[in-house]
Amino acid sequence: MHQKMFSPIDLHMHSLASDGTMHPRDLVQRVHDSGVQVMALTDHDNTAGLAEAGEKATELGIQLIPGVEVSSEWETQGIHIVGLFVDPENGVLQEGLAKIMAFRDWRATEISRLLEVAGIPGAEAGARAMAGSRMVGRSHFGRWLVRAGHCADASEAFGKYLGRGCPAYVPSDWIPMTEAVRWINSAGGSAILAHPGRYKLSASRLRALLNAFREAGGAGLEVCSGSQAAGDREHLGRLARELGLLGSVGSDFHGPDVGHAAIGQLLPLPDGVEPVWTRAGIQLH
Ligand code: AMP
Ligand code: MN
Ligand code: MN
Ligand code: MN
Repeated sequence: MHQKMFSPIDLHMHSLASDGTMHPRDLVQRVHDSGVQVMALTDHDNTAGLAEAGEKATELGIQLIPGVEVSSEWETQGIHIVGLFVDPENGVLQEGLAKIMAFRDWRATEISRLLEVAGIPGAEAGARAMAGSRMVGRSHFGRWLVRAGHCADASEAFGKYLGRGCPAYVPSDWIPMTEAVRWINSAGGSAILAHPGRYKLSASRLRALLNAFREAGGAGLEVCSGSQAAGDREHLGRLARELGLLGSVGSDFHGPDVGHAAIGQLLPLPDGVEPVWTRAGIQLH
């Protein structure tokens, strides 16, 4: 059966508060224009965009779920945990996120030092300027490397300098996955394993990760994510049903000129996977 590649709910996207390229209000406008009714703003490691997004969402009649995407690790593997329905005022969550933001700040200086060793000076000022006063991440370095003429595009920047094992890669020292889940749960949220296909784990490792995640209090996983490989949705749907985890859907949109993800360009959850949003009483029409 042919299924429509459009979802009226999209629970994973980024704004200028992290490494997206749109102001939160413009992002919400774009969500509205694409016909999506329910969105979550899930910036990396901070919730600074939620207030502005909330105002615009109210104005346009969009239902905004407050979210965050927490950078963590599990057995040396970098793992992203999306928190949905979080209370951004929660102290445990904000203290935790502040720790990650401090690590990011330190890492930015370290990445710049390594780029300088590799013959590329001036990256720190450049990347920080791209990030503004907000979260600084590898995406900002990637964009600066392109702008300064060192790379043709972001994917080359990651392949040559910023990706794992590359000259300017800083072995990450993220917080344990269990901590990310704990903070999200403390803030009344649901912890969702983001884009499970992107970690390139074997089927048995992925199952081990999901078991550890569930044991830590994780609620669900992104069964449908932007630009996932063929077959991932069915495989992840089976795992969700089998392990009693909820399903989420999210494009991981970063901006019109970033990557290939588009808002709402997602398949529906497979049959029998319980959506994470039903707990909030959200009905889609
Ligand atoms: P960070 O959290 O600062 O380590 O950066 C990770 C972010 O970089 C991801 O959320 C993506 O937005 C971006 N990213 C990761 N890999 C690539 C890639 N190969 N090409 C372009 N962007 C990437
Ligand atoms: Mn990103
Ligand atoms: Mn991610
Ligand atoms: Mn993301």
